[in-house]
Amino acid sequence: MSDYQNDYIVIVKRLGKGPYILEKLTDYIQNQECITCHKLLQSVSFYNHIAGIMLDELPYPQWVYAECWSCGYQNALWKLCAIDLASKIEQEIHGVNGL
Ligand SMILES: [Zn+2]
Repeated sequence: MSDYQNDYIVIVKRLGKGPYILEKLTDYIQNQECITCHKLLQSVSFYNHIAGIMLDELPYPQWVYAECWSCGYQNALWKLCAIDLASKIEQEIHGVNGL
């Protein structure tokens, strides 16, 4: 099993608890496309959630998502990470051009 496949399984089960730096997470999310309409994401939101990640100095885990300004879909961080990794696995198996 490749490293990517291992990473993918870990992320699908649960994103690592962190702590994460909000500024870096925001940079990451703003380079991702909306899952449903494929527009680039812009805003990052979060709220207290037991299954979330530790973020900056906040005392309670946060559920991080990006609401698409175009279609309104709320893109959960773990889904963005999973899709990002899935595309890396795809490239690893089939090559960048899908051959
Ligand atoms: Zn969208």
